[in-house]
Amino acid sequence: MEIALRTPLIHSLPLSQHCGCNVWLKMESSQPTGSFKLRSAEKICCYYAERGATAFISSSGGNAGIAVAHSGRKLGLPVTVVVPESTSARAKQLIEQEGASLIVHGKVWSEANDYAQSLATDEVIYLHPFDHPLLWEGISTIVDEVISCGLKPDAVILSVGGGSMLSGIAQGLEKHQIGYIPVYAVETHGTASLNASLNAGKLVRLDKVSGIATTLAASQVCENAFNVASRLDVRSMLVSDQEALNACRRFLDDHRVLTEPACGVSLSLLYDHKIRFTHADNVLVIVCGGASVTLEGIAG
Ligand SMILES: *Cc1c(COP(=O)(O)O)cnc(C)c1O
Repeated sequence: MEIALRTPLIHSLPLSQHCGCNVWLKMESSQPTGSFKLRSAEKICCYYAERGATAFISSSGGNAGIAVAHSGRKLGLPVTVVVPESTSARAKQLIEQEGASLIVHGKVWSEANDYAQSLATDEVIYLHPFDHPLLWEGISTIVDEVISCGLKPDAVILSVGGGSMLSGIAQGLEKHQIGYIPVYAVETHGTASLNASLNAGKLVRLDKVSGIATTLAASQVCENAFNVASRLDVRSMLVSDQEALNACRRFLDDHRVLTEPACGVSLSLLYDHKIRFTHADNVLVIVCGGASVTLEGIAG
């Protein structure tokens, strides 16, 4: 069964002209649930469904939870999503729209996550939102598709929350023997968990996360993301909430697509000329998307 779709790869004329290079957009915003998380959710849900899973439990009130809810519905298996009290009404609505049962538990994600894990059995499978090799394998298909379009990127720009995207893209690049290209890994100042770990030279946990990019608000990246960032040419970049928002607005005008600030952080590297490329460079941006965004939410 096909759950995640093959997404468009668009040569962005406005961004290419703005940056003086070739900017390519991998439109994960076009996935049925609005983000690349459907690739990882499909991979892991199908894996366990084939091995006798009877239900799934997710602890993500964001795009991961929505993607698991969608995958379960397509597979005909019930999904429970445990979310903390801080989860937005919009996110809850999207999860319930997919037919999943919603449980609100705990003040913060870690409390919801502990509870979700406690509900798991041999057949009722708990799914972590970002830390599992099957999730990364699902995401690596983004690179397969780019390569099959005949594009060999000179650089990649992507957003970092818990690090599944970084892990999956790195896996894809290495699979296609281009693991040496620079990967710009973007966070906001308030969610800079990868940046903090790279500065410390070891995996560290942030005391607090803050700001508008709630989808990126993992206090610690997964160990694999840290290892990838240490091994490959991964360049940690930080932008402000305002820059992320501005990028979402400009992207909406340029490409008529609404994205979360979690995606705006990557776009802002280009809109705000944070990196320079040459005319010949092919720069791939993972337009990671995001479901819990509304026009009002990015209005200034
Ligand atoms: C999950 C997500 C991210 C961050 O990805 P990680 O794998 O957690 O680093 C960024 N943008 C969107 C839209 C997401 O859903």
